[in-house]
Amino acid sequence: MSNPDSSLKDIAFFLDRDGTINKDVGYLHQIEHFELIPGSARAIKLLNDQRFRVILVTNQSGIGVGLYTFDDLKKVNDEMTRQLALQGAHIDAFYASPFHPEGRGEFQHPNHPDRKPNPGMLLRAIEEWHIDPRASWMIGDRSVDVQAGRRAGTKTCQVRSGIGGPTMDPDADLVADDLLEAVQLILNSSLESTL
Ligand SMILES: [Mg+2]
Repeated sequence: MSNPDSSLKDIAFFLDRDGTINKDVGYLHQIEHFELIPGSARAIKLLNDQRFRVILVTNQSGIGVGLYTFDDLKKVNDEMTRQLALQGAHIDAFYASPFHPEGRGEFQHPNHPDRKPNPGMLLRAIEEWHIDPRASWMIGDRSVDVQAGRRAGTKTCQVRSGIGGPTMDPDADLVADDLLEAVQLILNSSLESTL
């Protein structure tokens, strides 16, 4: 219990899901429609090999509005886990927000703290995994990902692999074509300076 290393904080890469790890098909909830973006498994394996935490943070308003269920989400996550494992990659933790202003019942919320661009999922993960946000990154394809990262105190990268259109958030610290390029740029720059 006195191990001094236990007080060290970890570095995390918070990753959006649709448009960042896998192709964004809109309200993805069937594993037949799950398709990794080329290079994303390799990118995640590079992070795994460096012992960074890889934490998925995804808005899942489709659950809130009744298009699919948490069980469907779990099946998609399991399929992602399976496909990543084929390439030696894994995600350490999954966080999902079902809330939406037009959600049903308990999932109706005008501005839930967990729904990106709010940072609730990231803040919880930072607490639970003892993450140092200032040394960590949020990577996603949309402005909401960049803003959630900023609000949680991480560095941010926006990738062009989504379907969100050409609008890039000027607040992003880094822009990359896809997750693999993002990870390579970040890891290479970390060799020259600190992460
Ligand atoms: Mg996305």
